[in-house]
Amino acid sequence: MIEPVPRLGDTIDDYCPRCRLLLNHAVASLVDNKVVKVVCQTCHSEHPYRNAELPQKKKPSPRAALFDQVLVKTTSAPEAEAQAPAEESAQAEPEPPKKKKVATPARYISRHKAKPRRG
Ligand SMILES: [Zn+2]
Repeated sequence: MIEPVPRLGDTIDDYCPRCRLLLNHAVASLVDNKVVKVVCQTCHSEHPYRNAELPQKKKPSPRAALFDQVLVKTTSAPEAEAQAPAEESAQAEPEPPKKKKVATPARYISRHKAKPRRG
């Protein structure tokens, strides 16, 4: 079986890292009859030919991970973390529930009715 020799400008399928999809690409560079670079026909970005293989490495959510790292750096002052649990344990002692003040009876608000017109 003879493989068709790719030529410049041929349309081949490849994974576009920019579109993150398997899309049509145009052969942009050949070395020894092997596709080296392709141009995405959707976003027109040139990138190395990936043999139409989807990227295997997939981190669950790199953005979320980065965001968490930033949050940890900004929010977790080591001192604050050390103090927070201490306060909680201090408050954990059973305190007698404060008696609520006897609520004063609600005042009856009377609106002055519009005075009847005289005469
Ligand atoms: Zn693309």
